[in-house]
Amino acid sequence: MNSFEWSSPRDIAQAAGVATTTVAAAMVSQSGRLSTDGVVFKAGGIDLLDLMKEGLLVPRGIVNLREIPDLAVIAQADDGGVHIGANVTLAQLAADPVIRTRFLALADVAGNSASPQIRQVATIGGNLLQRPRCWYFRSRDHHCARKGGEVCFAFAGENQYHAIFDHNGCAMVHPETSATALVALGAKLELTNAAGTKRVVGLEQFFLLPEVDIQRENDLTPGEILTAILLPPPAPTSRSIHIKQGETDSFDWPIADVAVALDTAPGGACRAAAVILGAASPVPHRAKAAEALLVGKTIDADVARAAAHAALQGAAPLTKNAYKLPIFETLVRRAILAVVRGG
Ligand SMILES: Cc1cc2nc3c(=O)[nH]c(=O)nc-3n(C[C@H](O)[C@H](O)[C@H](O)COP(=O)(O)OP(=O)(O)OC[C@H]3O[C@@H](n4cnc5c(N)ncnc54)[C@H](O)[C@@H]3O)c2cc1C
Repeated sequence: MNSFEWSSPRDIAQAAGVATTTVAAAMVSQSGRLSTDGVVFKAGGIDLLDLMKEGLLVPRGIVNLREIPDLAVIAQADDGGVHIGANVTLAQLAADPVIRTRFLALADVAGNSASPQIRQVATIGGNLLQRPRCWYFRSRDHHCARKGGEVCFAFAGENQYHAIFDHNGCAMVHPETSATALVALGAKLELTNAAGTKRVVGLEQFFLLPEVDIQRENDLTPGEILTAILLPPPAPTSRSIHIKQGETDSFDWPIADVAVALDTAPGGACRAAAVILGAASPVPHRAKAAEALLVGKTIDADVARAAAHAALQGAAPLTKNAYKLPIFETLVRRAILAVVRGG
């Protein structure tokens, strides 16, 4: 690992003023030689230090965000929703009584991602901004399109863990499992720059497909700090769930995961539905056909099966990942029925 300058401000504006670039921009090179000029943010450091140890990122400086007290709180928002500071850890989220009661899909995903030790350190902000796990992207020997090279090696290579939707130019899948649940819950992000200006953007809109920008997964700009995740108040009659399937029953990233949020009239028809597939596309994938099929119906096993089938509409598996289709179909069906049955 290279040596680097270290700063640990206690104030958001001060921290934002020190960073010069994003991790995504610092990892792009035309020649394969990385810039050593950048100053980047660190939260828990799980992903950042991984990239540095692998020689994929060589920053001049690191700005530690962990000493900023304002970023570590979960609070009720004025609109009745919840404000989650970006430094809240996955373990805190999983244990929080409000998150467990009102936003079960988020509690599920926070409590089941990675290992117990990692969840104590990993922040929700860092989780949403971690870089892809694609093994070509993580290999120093492969100068792939996401790092400024010419090709995505996955198309002709080992693509069993890659995308089945929207892989236009790059076949990685988004690594942040939390995003699957947060998109289903309608989350927004609050981002703050050095001047103290805040912007609020829908999480779903924040993520970028490769056809929009192949070198960055999201719309974070240099010096901008993700300060909070904002969850709107759920309807009292709505429920959500997140379920995942790993290759083995371990703490590794899932090969497929699904979040479903349904608002259902008591004993009656579905009023609103969100069906989001994770590890299916470079961004959390909204299964619009499945959602359309659920709304207005009283959901039983047949409706759930039809919606699960519809969720795969438009899928274009690569040479080695068609096995994901039946896994997703099963997960979607189970998730819908679990929400309806309240378990
Ligand atoms: C064995 C293992 C299993 C894992 N399994 C899963 C899994 O199942 N699902 C899953 O989702 N993840 C999984 N992870 C990934 C892990 O959860 C993430 O690496 C972690 O959440 C990142 O959070 P962090 O606080 O450590 O972020 P850091 O590593 O500190 O930062 C990550 C990125 O975010 C940027 N950043 C951080 N905070 C901010 C901010 N507030 N504003 C602007 N930029 C910021 C940093 O510059 C960096 O680019 C796993 C990791 C390991 C090692």
